[in-house]
Amino acid sequence: MKTRIFASVFLSLFIYTTSYSQKPKLIVGIVVDQMRYDYISRYWSKFGDNGFKRLVTEGYFCKNTNYNYVPTYTAPGHASIYTGTTPSSHGIIANNWYDRESNTMVYCVDDKSVNALGGDTKAGQMSPRKLLNTTIGDQLNLSDNFQSKVIGIALKDRGAILPAGKSGKAAYWYDGSTGNWISSTYYMKALPQWVTEFNNRAVAKRFLESTWNTLLPIEQYTESTPDDSPYERPFTGLTKATFPYVLPELMAANEKLNMIRSTPYGNTFTKDFAIETIKAENMGKGNASDLIAISFSSTDYIGHQFGPNSVEVEDTYLRLDQDLAELLKFLDEWVGKNNVLVFLTADHGAAENPTYLKDHSISSGTFNEYELKGKLKKAMAKEFSDSLVLSVSNQQVFLDQKAISLKTLKADKIENSIVDFLLKENGIANAFPEYNLVNKEYAEGIESVIKNGYHVKRSGDVMINYLPYWMDSEVKFGTTHGSPYEYDTHVPLIFYGYTIKPGSTSEKINITDIAPTICNLLNIEVPNGTSGKPILQLIR
Ligand SMILES: [Zn+2]
Repeated sequence: MKTRIFASVFLSLFIYTTSYSQKPKLIVGIVVDQMRYDYISRYWSKFGDNGFKRLVTEGYFCKNTNYNYVPTYTAPGHASIYTGTTPSSHGIIANNWYDRESNTMVYCVDDKSVNALGGDTKAGQMSPRKLLNTTIGDQLNLSDNFQSKVIGIALKDRGAILPAGKSGKAAYWYDGSTGNWISSTYYMKALPQWVTEFNNRAVAKRFLESTWNTLLPIEQYTESTPDDSPYERPFTGLTKATFPYVLPELMAANEKLNMIRSTPYGNTFTKDFAIETIKAENMGKGNASDLIAISFSSTDYIGHQFGPNSVEVEDTYLRLDQDLAELLKFLDEWVGKNNVLVFLTADHGAAENPTYLKDHSISSGTFNEYELKGKLKKAMAKEFSDSLVLSVSNQQVFLDQKAISLKTLKADKIENSIVDFLLKENGIANAFPEYNLVNKEYAEGIESVIKNGYHVKRSGDVMINYLPYWMDSEVKFGTTHGSPYEYDTHVPLIFYGYTIKPGSTSEKINITDIAPTICNLLNIEVPNGTSGKPILQLIR
């Protein structure tokens, strides 16, 4: 009896020890740029069995996952996924934002203190220094004394750099002036030999020697509007946005090698380079868990140009489905499904084209922030004998704090006056003064979403919220994103592999819940700004 109790205690201790120290060999984070939630069901009947369908049927599908801040752009999206918090903490408040100190617009990953590796100087002077919180990869590194290899890959610099965190081994992004994958001296002294060899194969150029035609016969694209549509922006040199696209004929007028971004081959190119990275760096084969963060950017470029109802976007997703199938097959062979933890999500969704909506009697409109700035300055000058407005950008008004204190004006009085002015403008739903955002707590609703996007040091003094389907005036063709509305916030979220059991939930999940969920599955500390919570169905 005694021995039996002893044995069972010993056995349970053993089980606990093994389960607490158990980790997947490789974590693969996949972000699809501008993938709206409903694309999964919209294109479901056209997907093959081994890409999106395999992830959904073999994985755990969180069907009600939303962004919980504004603006819903690429840089804040990637930062929030990997830090488990919102711009109010991680500080990536937009892609570009107005910086009070330098009185200029700054770019989220711009860093003039580092140099390019492998390509054009300007394109390579990038780092994650403006990111204020740790990421999943940083925590992984802190958990094992920097034994993990953490690498970010995307055509867009910000899609590669922010997910790799501060301590990533590398981030690689695309330089359209050379067709190369590049990095910066933030990460290393020189580009690894295998990257140079991959670049020497001129893969981007070879992709652009082809014709982009639809994968299936075009009459089968019944999920989209007809190919010849007035709401889509044709490539430069063409009068219509219709298939086929003979890329070698279009390249010269469409940014040459940079054009790969606006074709589905940009995603295939990214997938190929990601697989090459895993192989060359021997990821998932060491003692520590490794993390590769892959972001597919072409979906966003194509979405902006043609809009969510286009044959072009549908075809891009059908081809991405094949790329994902190939990536999953590679992971099966490389480490095996039980040794890899995959998650797939998006950095934001997208609206329909505003003219298309209007033509179907759905309210929409466009807004010009530059014109608004002019009008606002005039009104302020009249009331306070100083225009006081420095910038109107990313739906925020930045005030001249120095002038306000010099003139001993009351900031809250000015903010109220701006709110009153804004509420009279067509297309504005509401506006929020900074003094409310700083002093009040909001558990839910638009106020909490605005507050989550508001960073005390970096954000403006009045935050603007447009009416639904109102967007930037540059959107004549195609679409954009950035709002707090469902079409921009609702994204797919799927976990797959490792200990993940097939299933799904319609419970409300925030984008900030991904990082704490992954860290819980890895039994490591969550990132240092985490505001989300682990998804309990997955960590039970
Ligand atoms: Zn975009």
